[in-house]
Amino acid sequence: MGLLDGKVALITGGARGQGRAHAVTCAKEGADIIVADIASQLSTVDYPMAEPDDLAETVTLVEALDRRAIGVQADVRDQAALDDAVALGIAEFGRIDILIANAGIWTGGSFWELTEVSWDEMIGTNLTGVWKSAKAVAPHMIERGSGSIVITSSVNGLEPGPGYAAYVSAKHGVIGLMKSIALELAPHGVRCNAISPGAIDTPMINHQRAWNMFAGHEGGTEADFRTAGYHYGALKGTTFLDPRAVANAALYLNSDLAEAVTGVTIPVEAGHLLLPG
Ligand code: NAD
Repeated sequence: MGLLDGKVALITGGARGQGRAHAVTCAKEGADIIVADIASQLSTVDYPMAEPDDLAETVTLVEALDRRAIGVQADVRDQAALDDAVALGIAEFGRIDILIANAGIWTGGSFWELTEVSWDEMIGTNLTGVWKSAKAVAPHMIERGSGSIVITSSVNGLEPGPGYAAYVSAKHGVIGLMKSIALELAPHGVRCNAISPGAIDTPMINHQRAWNMFAGHEGGTEADFRTAGYHYGALKGTTFLDPRAVANAALYLNSDLAEAVTGVTIPVEAGHLLLPG
């Protein structure tokens, strides 16, 4: 018996990283999966984003667990593409019980130097994309009188970080959005919660700009990144967390174990937020 037996989950940004961990974790617990990912590059993102092969790989991993999976190339900034993904999922699997609104980008730059394109791609993906994803599933969940939405925020939805104001703004924004969705969907029996991951070991934070940030100077290396990970959380031995840590928190929130939990944010950051400064 799995915690999600017979359920269907739509996961945005599921081609790799945390989204893939969500897909595999949900599938292990009995869910069929619709994976939506842009699987192409945005112009202001300075690290390689997922590719179509990554999306196909997530589908393969779910199918290897004897669950059904559909991979859809969709940009969360595109409401029609999300509506189509939802319609396809319902046509193939009959229902959507779970949305994990996980797709996101991490771009940087002092706020006074950000271009409008960079601001718009960030807010469009990390904030408006979450609203559009929830909007796409809401009518179906309301009609069925049940459902669970989990939104991926960040510790940067709870505290700022220097050099990425647009990201911090979007991640704070989705926590307000989550609370509004929770309030508006509660009368319909649909829950909505958020997760605030700390430093998770995914391609989003393993590249030159991230290495420089973790090193505290230009010319950082992957070794600086690995060392910095050991100082990130409060828990003994913490380093960059495996994406499964986030997927397990979402699993709880999406399961009946959390049947009375809505409108909350769970940090998954090994106690990082407890640390001074
Ligand atoms: P990742 O870069 O490995 O995965 C993000 C995925 O989202 C990629 O597959 C990418 O193609 C997809 N995506 C990006 N823009 C999209 C769009 N417009 N439409 C559809 N798909 C899109 O990074 P990750 O760490 O797995 O990120 C998952 C989520 O976790 C993001 O929302 C991110 O902001 C958040 N987060 C990450 C960390 C971390 O340390 N890695 C920490 C806190 C929060």
